[in-house]
Amino acid sequence: MRSIKKDFLSPPPGLVKFAAKHMDKMLDGDDNPIKSCKSKVRKHLETHYLKRCAYCESTIGTTGFSRVDHFRPIAKYRWLAMEWSNLLLSCEKCNEYKSDSFPLRVEKKRVINPGKESHLADSPHMMDEGALLLNPELDDASEHITFSPDGSIKERNGSEKGRTTIDICKLDRDELTERYKKQIGGILYDIKDKTIIAATFYTAIKTDEDLLLIFIGTFQALAGLKNPGNKYVYTQLGTQMYEEFEDFFVRKLPGNEDMRFLVRRAFELFRQRYFDS
Ligand SMILES: [Zn+2]
Repeated sequence: MRSIKKDFLSPPPGLVKFAAKHMDKMLDGDDNPIKSCKSKVRKHLETHYLKRCAYCESTIGTTGFSRVDHFRPIAKYRWLAMEWSNLLLSCEKCNEYKSDSFPLRVEKKRVINPGKESHLADSPHMMDEGALLLNPELDDASEHITFSPDGSIKERNGSEKGRTTIDICKLDRDELTERYKKQIGGILYDIKDKTIIAATFYTAIKTDEDLLLIFIGTFQALAGLKNPGNKYVYTQLGTQMYEEFEDFFVRKLPGNEDMRFLVRRAFELFRQRYFDS
């Protein structure tokens, strides 16, 4: 899950007017306004989310069609069915698994009717519910969810919110775990390959430039995994792979400590030259 910036006070043109006009009908049980609302916001959400699922971060199309997801489900919060800050983009699978789930730390804090307070997702009134589902528009998921170098996903430091989100959306389902593993494995394979080249031409490596030249393509690919503009990459995992290079890659390298030192050194040079300067 990656953080999304969406201005809650700038809904798509016409949405507020439409919602106000059809609210009564909708609250009486008519689902048609909700359908129209979804078609009004889908394109806008796809732009904000770069066509990625709010929960699992899969590029939509890899796990089915896009869904306009109600963060707070209609079954419990019908009056939020056309509220911009309650509308997210998700893949079919996360949307189906999530369904009507919306657990709170303390059930009696649930807001059960519209009331007069603000309905914005970040208003104190709504935040006070203590939702146990991570919202990419409000939360920094990396504080709650972490990946292991073997590709498994789990809650960070016992985060209840992280654990609940993984369970509700099944973020540890096989198809996703396979993709996380593939993303790690692809880079690891390349690093191993380049390490063999470095070992073979060890005596010819005279300068930092020589060393960097061997690894640069692989490191650029690794840095690219942080960029949500690159299709099909899982950027929260990618960022962790980059930041925790030692655990994800160096420790997995076969061979002697000299080779590990070279890879570590090459990555240090790469970071200094291209990203951390
Ligand atoms: Zn998903």
